[in-house]
Amino acid sequence: MSEDDDTHAGLAERKMRFLYHLRSHGVTDPAVLDAMERVDRGEFVRGHFEDRAYDDTPLPIQCGQTISQPSVVGLMTQALKPGPRDTVLEIGTGSGYQAAVLAGLCRRVFTVERHRPLVVAAEALFQRLRLSNITVRLADGSFGLPEQAPFDRIIVTAAAEDPPGPLLAQLKIGGIMVVPVGQSDAVQTLIRVNRTETGFDYHELRQVRFVPLVEGLGQG
Ligand code: SAH
Repeated sequence: MSEDDDTHAGLAERKMRFLYHLRSHGVTDPAVLDAMERVDRGEFVRGHFEDRAYDDTPLPIQCGQTISQPSVVGLMTQALKPGPRDTVLEIGTGSGYQAAVLAGLCRRVFTVERHRPLVVAAEALFQRLRLSNITVRLADGSFGLPEQAPFDRIIVTAAAEDPPGPLLAQLKIGGIMVVPVGQSDAVQTLIRVNRTETGFDYHELRQVRFVPLVEGLGQG
């Protein structure tokens, strides 16, 4: 076997174990598993952590942020139930991994990030991977993206003390929002919000740990 074949077999095996692990941690929606199989997390993790890309663990990225744990990405995506005609808003682009997974499941993804270097890196990566249905914006995502609202789905990948009002207002009736809520220095609760004709229904999903949703743009 050539070294290339060996590398290839190693990656295939790691991917198989990765998918098995996701399934055994509750990610059972075949469309979500398929979308996650098609996105190479290694592309979103650079530097010394690259060889841990298929471990089920959050990893550090630029600007002191983190790429989320794959099983949490899977569970959040599953709870969001994105459909092929949906427009999704993500707050907290980070590495772009969650947005790339969503891009395979819905029509359009808008993703907002407050750190310019992360926006620049994610845009370049989406272009290289030909993920042409993702738009990245540099902004404070607490205010959502009024010019593109309303959204079928909203996913927040940073923890807020409460679901931000502007995001609730930008969710369509019948829409779903998934957001971690709680203090940033403690364990938070992942919430699913369904917007109905008359208001909002809240369901607690599980405990999670995210970096905080921070006001304003990042420095530098
Ligand atoms: N979804 C990412 C992980 C997100 S980490 C991934 O798949 O890699 C959380 C991200 O939210 C960080 O990059 C952080 O800078 C960003 N963030 C925090 N507060 C924000 C805000 N108010 N507006 C936009 N982005 C924010």
